[in-house]
Formats: sequence, structure tokens, C-alpha cells
Amino acid sequence: MAATMLDKASVKQKYAQERAKRLRPDGNAQYIPLDARFPEMATDPYTLVKAREPVHDHVTFAFVGAGFSGLVVGARLAEAGVSDVRLIDKAGDVGGTWYWNRYPGVQCDTVSMIYLPLLEETGYMPSERYVHGPEIRAHCNRIADQFGLRDKALFHTEVTSVEWQQSDQRWRITTNRGDDFTAKYIGMGTGPLSVAKLPGIPGIERFRGKAFHTSRWDYEYTGGNANGAAMDKLGDKRVAIIGTGATGIQCVPYVARTAKHLFVFQRTPSSVDERGNRAVDPDWFKSIAEPGWQQRWYDNFVDNQSRGVIPTEDYINDGWTAISRRIRERVFALPSDQIDMTTIRAAVDDADIEKMNEIRARVDALVHDRETAEKLKAWYSQLCKRPCFNDLYLPAFNQPNVTLVDTDGRGVEEITETGLVVNGQHYEVDCIVYASGFDFGASFQLKSGFDVKGRDGQFLSEYWDNGLRTLHGLQTHNFPNAFTVQMFQAANLASNIPHNIVDHAKTIAQIVAHAEARGFAEVEPALEAEQAWVDLVLTGTGSLITSPDCTPGFWNNEGQGWDQKFRQIQGHPGGPKAFFDHMNQWRAAGDFKGLHFAK
Ligand code: NDP
Repeated sequence: MAATMLDKASVKQKYAQERAKRLRPDGNAQYIPLDARFPEMATDPYTLVKAREPVHDHVTFAFVGAGFSGLVVGARLAEAGVSDVRLIDKAGDVGGTWYWNRYPGVQCDTVSMIYLPLLEETGYMPSERYVHGPEIRAHCNRIADQFGLRDKALFHTEVTSVEWQQSDQRWRITTNRGDDFTAKYIGMGTGPLSVAKLPGIPGIERFRGKAFHTSRWDYEYTGGNANGAAMDKLGDKRVAIIGTGATGIQCVPYVARTAKHLFVFQRTPSSVDERGNRAVDPDWFKSIAEPGWQQRWYDNFVDNQSRGVIPTEDYINDGWTAISRRIRERVFALPSDQIDMTTIRAAVDDADIEKMNEIRARVDALVHDRETAEKLKAWYSQLCKRPCFNDLYLPAFNQPNVTLVDTDGRGVEEITETGLVVNGQHYEVDCIVYASGFDFGASFQLKSGFDVKGRDGQFLSEYWDNGLRTLHGLQTHNFPNAFTVQMFQAANLASNIPHNIVDHAKTIAQIVAHAEARGFAEVEPALEAEQAWVDLVLTGTGSLITSPDCTPGFWNNEGQGWDQKFRQIQGHPGGPKAFFDHMNQWRAAGDFKGLHFAK
């Protein structure tokens, strides 16, 4: 049913009121990095650091980051005949996000068939529609082993400098473990959400109990393990979880199972829709697993979310594709003589309000206490914040040992030696778990921990100081043989980031294979091609996802609006489908348009 004008106006007014409560002048500066100031929280709780000798050698390809990006690029290079690929990562093993995030309940939010890369190449069938973290980490190990990516890898190693040496047309790489080696090519895939952040709550450093970030879960303290064993040491512990984003939502039900008491500190409720997880049926999987199936699934997902011709089938058929379908149906239902930007926007609003009404009604249906239910309702458009899908989170608030502490948009006021203060009330706890997220807008240098010195001593940080400059999000002029695997200036915030990685890996492998076969020593984009790509990106008008009118969060620069620099991290203006179509045509043409190869 279409939202009536009255409904719509009052809902919109409520959205604006709730947003206003949360806007803060300090924006992203409200957060502090999880760094040396919190050494206990910043260390790797999962793998002991092993002593090793520094390396001083040469490899064809060095890749910073051993998460999905490094693994998939490494695999594609191995297929293309480049076997000496060195992954470097500060983690103790491969996996990236999935190495660090071992909190209880961690699970992918996009259907496994398109979330897990290289399923066809590894012949692996995911066990569930949305697999849990340990299975994703095991898949990362599978890729590393199958493609021989461990042999030369350096773990628990932070790159400290990357410098182009024109004399021998190589990159020189140094690390905090004393390594000093060269590589013909360098790739960087340090991830959009790899720098954990803590809320800058006054007194945070004073707390004397146990505290950790969700990406450094301390099972020594909680008991249990990442595979789902009950956290048996929490039976006498009062635990606080700060944060109710995609991470908080997933770990709350698991902590609730065993904690003496769990206090969930909420600033903004997430929208929590149905998950509907189930085991993958091997017969069904066999029926879809025809050659080329995973690419067809990627394409189908993107097609279902595109603005162009819509396929008749939806292989994915989950909360993500339902969002696009609902909007599309509304827009397509408009009389053809009444289609303009105003009616389209109104139709999108109607679809969204209808969906959010359903999501708010879901809270009422699942949470018994009326007051708690009211506080758990999200008052913003569904795509203002990362939509969540979970069947365990809301019912957890029916347990007598779980208390929602709603801060009415203001956040936790203070942390003391023994607990937390909200609305002047002190909550004594033994442990604080920070589900406070990651620094999304951090510069490339902050995310990776080093700068890159290209041709003529040019630093990447300086070159990108006024905004990102790339061809296809991947290569930058004056930084020969260097590749950045990222979603910016590429498919951007498509809800399935691995597709972006898989596509970039194909492009990298094709470029490197060509250079190697023809004996080229260097490849980089021409300045004009890079400029044309940046100009294209800047024609974008932003998206629903990044609107500054939304409630603040990392998706919209904490509601601070978008300056030129932020506009330059948009994706292709035509959306993910347009980007992938462009890259398919670019690769198929085989003429490497925009690139300059040199001997
Ligand atoms: P988020 O940044 O989404 O959430 C941080 C939470 O901390 C928010 O609820 C925020 O409130 C809250 N917070 C911050 N400061 C305070 C404060 N002072 N007092 C109280 N609360 C505070 O981080 P997540 O780790 O949850 O998620 C980050 C991203 O990681 C996701 O968007 C998703 O892309 C990815 N992710 C993916 C998963 C998957 O695919 N399965 C699972 C988990 C994460 P507020 O909203 O008001 O800012």
C-alpha cells in the first residue's frame, strides 16, 4: 500500500528529528584509532608472532594485504603463470577481515555463492546460504594453499616503505621486520574497513576491567571459540557491548547466551530484517554448478540491482535484491506520462517507507517489552545505514539477562574505572566490547600504514591530496607497475564487494600477462586516460546510500556532506553494472586502452 501523504510527512519529520539528535560537529573526529594507545586491545589475539630472518630477495609481484584482494589477485596471477607472488600482511595468516573478525556469530551477509570468491576454481560448496566466519577463513586458507600463496608470504609484517627505483625498474619494499626486497609489480588491497576505531568517549582509557574491539575478540577471557562453542567464562560477568551496527547485531545473541548480564549500549538502532539462513542442498548446488556459474551469479546480482534491463530471474532472492525489486516495481508502476525525477523520487520514498514500516513492525512482533521494542525501531531510510539481516538479534532482548541501554542518539556519556554512564546512570560492568566499527574514510596511507613513492620521488599521498586519481580505480599515472584493489572509482558500494575484487584481479592478471609476454618493463596509465576517468567519476550525482540527509554514519561521512575529495571516491556514475560492463569490454578489446607500456 502506498504511504499516504500524511503518513509520509510525519515519517519524514520523525526521520529529520532523529537525524538532528545524532549530528555532531566533530564528525569522524569523534573516533580514535585502535592503536598504540591501547596496546592490549591492538595486539593479535589469535596467532603468536614467530621470529624469522628478514628477507632480501626479488619477486615478480608483491601484494600488500592477504585478504580476499591479495588471495584472488595471487590466484589469477598463478593461473597466468606468475608463480612468485609475495603476500604481506600484518595479520598472522591469510584472510584479512576474516582473519581479524572472529567475534561470535560472525557471518557473511551476502549469499555465499557470490560472497566467497573462486568457488568454481576451488570446487567448494558452501555449507550454508550465509556461511559463518570460520568457514570463510577456511576458504581463504584453501585459496592460499591451492595457488601456492603461502610459500613466499610474510605475515605479522607491516610494510614501512614502497619506493619505485627507476634504475632497475623495480619497487623496493621495506618492512618493520627488517625485510628489504624488490618486486617488479606491487599490488595493494588493504580493504575499506581494516582500521578498527574506538568511540572517543570521555574516560575510555580509565576503564580497569577487560576491554576489547570485536575484531580482536579475546576468547581467553570469554571462553568458547570462534567456531561457536559457548563462552563458558562469561557466566559471572557483566558485559557491555557498545555499538549496534552489523557487527553488534551479530554478536549480541551469542554473548546473551552465557553472560551473567549483557548491557547493549545503543546510539542508533539498525534496521534488522529477516535472515532466513539455511543449509545448502548438495543436489541443488550440483544443479547450478555448471561451468561459468559463479560469474553468472555475480552478473545476475548486479543486473537485479541495476537501472537497466532487468533479468526475469533473481538467483539471489534475498533482502538485498528485494530492496531493488521493491523500488523498481514502484517506479515501473508509474503512468508513463507521469515519469519525471519528482515522481520517481516519490515512488522510491513510498517503497522505502513501506519497507521500513515492515521492519519496525517486525520489532513489535519479536520483542515482548513495548518500551524496549520502541527503542529498537530504526527511523531512517533503509539505505541510510548498512541494512542488517538477522533472526537472533531482536529475540535476544526477551531474555531476562539482557538490557538495552538506549542513549537516545547521544552515545555513551562517560566511561569510568568500573563502568559506563548514560543519562547520568552508572552501569557497572566487568567487560566492555567495542562493536564500534572501522575508519572507512581514512586515507590510503592511514589504512595501509605506509606511503608509496613513485616516479621522480612523487608520493601517492601528495598526488591524491586533492582527491583520488586512477584509471578504473586500479592504476595511477607516475606509479608504474602498481595496482590498488579498491571499490573507489570502480564498482563502489555495490553490496557485494568481492565481485569488485574478482573483476580487478582479472584485469591485473591480463595486464601483467601481456607485459610479461611482450617483455615490457613498465606499465602505467597515460595522464589523459586517468583524467578522463576521474572526470567520468565526477559526473556522478551520489547515491541514496551516501546522502548527507541520512542519519549520520560512516556511509555518509557522518552526515558532514561531501567535499570534492569525497566526491572523488564515488564509483562509476552508471553504477556497478556500468562499471563491470565497461571492464568486460575493455578486457575483451585487448588493446589496453589508456595504458602505456614501456621496455
Ligand atoms: P559500524 O560503524 O556500522 O557501527 C558502529 C556502532 O557503534 C554504531 O552502532 C554506532 O552508532 C556505535 N557507536 C559509535 N560511537 C558510539 C558511542 N559513543 N556510544 C554508543 N555507540 C556508539 O561498525 P560495524 O563493525 O558494526 O560494521 C561496519 C561494517 O562492517 C558494516 O557496515 C559492514 O560493511 C561490515 N560488516 C559486515 C558484516 C557482514 O557482511 N557479515 C558483518 C559485520 C560488519 P551510530 O550508528 O549512532 O553511529
